[in-house]
Amino acid sequence: MYNNIIEAEYLKDYVRPVTEEDRNKLPTYSHSKLEVYENCPYRYGLQYEQGKRSDETTLALELGTVCHRVYEIASQMWKEGMVNYNDLKFLLEYGDTDEKISGIKDLSKKYFEEWYETDSEGHTYSWKMGQFDKGLREYVDSFNYNGWFPFKEEYDFEFVFNNRAIIHGFIDAILINTEGDMKCLDYKTSKKPFPDNKIPTSQQFSIYCMGMLNDFGKLPVQCDYKFILLNQEQNALTNGFAKRIVKKLNTVLDNIDKDGKSGIWIPNSTPLCYWCSYSSTNPKAIQYKNECEYYSLWTPTEKKWDVNKRFNALDLTKDKHVDKINNDNNKRKLIF
Ligand code: SF4
Repeated sequence: MYNNIIEAEYLKDYVRPVTEEDRNKLPTYSHSKLEVYENCPYRYGLQYEQGKRSDETTLALELGTVCHRVYEIASQMWKEGMVNYNDLKFLLEYGDTDEKISGIKDLSKKYFEEWYETDSEGHTYSWKMGQFDKGLREYVDSFNYNGWFPFKEEYDFEFVFNNRAIIHGFIDAILINTEGDMKCLDYKTSKKPFPDNKIPTSQQFSIYCMGMLNDFGKLPVQCDYKFILLNQEQNALTNGFAKRIVKKLNTVLDNIDKDGKSGIWIPNSTPLCYWCSYSSTNPKAIQYKNECEYYSLWTPTEKKWDVNKRFNALDLTKDKHVDKINNDNNKRKLIF
């Protein structure tokens, strides 16, 4: 937990509204874009600089979308005075065709093998959907007795950070109490909570806090991850997060600027490569599979701590030099 008054006092010097001039001048980021860079600058280069964005879907993504939608509609129903669990069950099972959201009936067929697998935590999707149903009912019931009510769902925000970047995002849910205090929630469909070291300065919630400070003039008093397939919550942010996140964001933005200028995005080969759209080891990658040669050889069944190819910035510099010579030659050809 944190003192929301003290943290807001520090953050207010680094957050301001976006002007039209900013839109033409400043780069724009989201939490996920920054996170891609932190996990692997090379991946960031492929995805955001070269525009190689995979549009492949996964069970995790599609299930996350329908589960988020059910929570969103449940909160709206409560605000309108009538929560219809049959309609919510129908939405979960059959999705929302207008919004092109698939329900779990289709997802369990589309991702048949994965759906019936037990994950590394020993859970099946059948167990997770049971937890989802239980958690949803407990959550909605809690509005009637614990003093916190739905205020905003899928709340979009943007702000200028430190006069150098526009940061935008969506907050899954903001709850409010009768004193006007706010609580910020993010729904997760992951198979386990975050490790403890990710919690004190959660970048995602720090950014949400800055967005709320910009829009409402104050910070939420509490930020919680809600693991909706586990029916668990994890509280995030501790005292001093404001100072820590400002320092961290400045460093990340400096590094992105530096890499953008040099054109050298260094790969970070880790077991996460197994889930990267550019890795040959990712069994689900199709569109951009094999784009990266620097992937880690780690897989869940063969935990090798080696990489397919070591990165050498000099090779890139040589490539750039060759490109430059080719470009120069082409220019000469054009001139003559
Ligand atoms: S495969 Fe690994 S090293 Fe290559 S871009 Fe993806 S995360 Fe980075």
